[in-house]
Amino acid sequence: MTSHSERTHALLSASGSKRWLTCTPSARAEGLYMQELSNQGITEQESPFAEEGTQAHEYSEIILERELGTITKAQATRRINKFKKEKQYYGPEMEDMVEVYTDFVMERVNAARLETPDALVLIEQRLDFSQWVPEGFGTGDVLIVRDGVLEIIDLKYGKGVAVDAYENPQLKLYALGAIAAHDVLYDIQEVRMTIVQPRLDSISTFEVSAEDLYKWANEVVKPKAEMADNGDGDYEPGEHCRFCKIKSTCRARADEALETAKAEFADDGSLEVKTPEPATLSDDELAEILFVVDDIEKWCKDIKAYALEQALNGTSYEGFKLVEGRSNRVITDEAKAINLLLEKGGVGEDDLYAPRKLETITNLEKKVGKKAFAEILEGVVIKPPGKPVLVTEDDKRPAIQSAESAANDFDDELLS
Ligand code: SF4
Repeated sequence: MTSHSERTHALLSASGSKRWLTCTPSARAEGLYMQELSNQGITEQESPFAEEGTQAHEYSEIILERELGTITKAQATRRINKFKKEKQYYGPEMEDMVEVYTDFVMERVNAARLETPDALVLIEQRLDFSQWVPEGFGTGDVLIVRDGVLEIIDLKYGKGVAVDAYENPQLKLYALGAIAAHDVLYDIQEVRMTIVQPRLDSISTFEVSAEDLYKWANEVVKPKAEMADNGDGDYEPGEHCRFCKIKSTCRARADEALETAKAEFADDGSLEVKTPEPATLSDDELAEILFVVDDIEKWCKDIKAYALEQALNGTSYEGFKLVEGRSNRVITDEAKAINLLLEKGGVGEDDLYAPRKLETITNLEKKVGKKAFAEILEGVVIKPPGKPVLVTEDDKRPAIQSAESAANDFDDELLS
């Protein structure tokens, strides 16, 4: 069993596989960048979100071990009490979210044991997929292996980015490692991969045959991993740049963003750089631009954040200087200010305080616990319709009607 906090990262990590499978030279480029940082004595700090995720994994591991009977109830209680005392992110929210995840895992374990009484259940297992990826290994949160079927369940504790199990390369690589380790005994034909992301109320499952998985491993992963290991191939900017360590200074990403920004459209709709004509964009051209504005916006933000950090560390950029940003006045000694205002300001106590305001729903939910909060305030908390946003067609939310189509529907109803 691998401790979650002891997980290490390989050059071609499973969690970064979407990136190096698409942009094969990225892994080596990131490696060089990290080497440069380390030469300057700069070490990468774990983000609070990553630390929170690590703690949620550790807590769910204790709960699962208790439920599976691999530790006694007394041992579990001791470990839980210690965890609650020592871990800064523990609270009602973590308790609820881990329960959602562990309940799901135990449901799947029980279902597997109905089919195969001696189904194998493994928690936090190191999985070796180095047959396909040089030094490739990862840690599977939960593996359930029964006759013919392998099930992998992964907890994603973050709530910033939704992660779907569909064709998820990280889970597919874990599955390959798990099959390689257990195929002899269980003759695995089917693989079921699930991502539980409780803070986004999301459980997604993807199923694939072992045969298709091997085909992907041999025909896609192996050659791409070899290229990535050698730093070969073309840089391919895209959605996967989001967590790339060189995203702010990557030349390919900058070139693409700048090209796209100055691109106009040929008559056939294809992108090319030319003088705008006619003067205004058509709806089709606008739709093409809408596909790329988010990427350009992200790139601009990354560049600004990176350059500011560098400037604060002493880098100077021609034509730019560091200045103090806008700031607001602050009272340094509240008690003293209150006394002085009461004494000399001609005001009463009521004039000095802002009206009491209820905490935000998120903070109240954190304090009370998600489940209890929903039960206690059933019917009191509502979710009004959100402001309309324009998104790409593959977004999971159902489309809402525009004012014009709603009006048309209304006319149709009157006519029918
Ligand atoms: S930022 Fe994007 S294009 Fe550049 S190396 Fe990273 S993944 Fe590749």
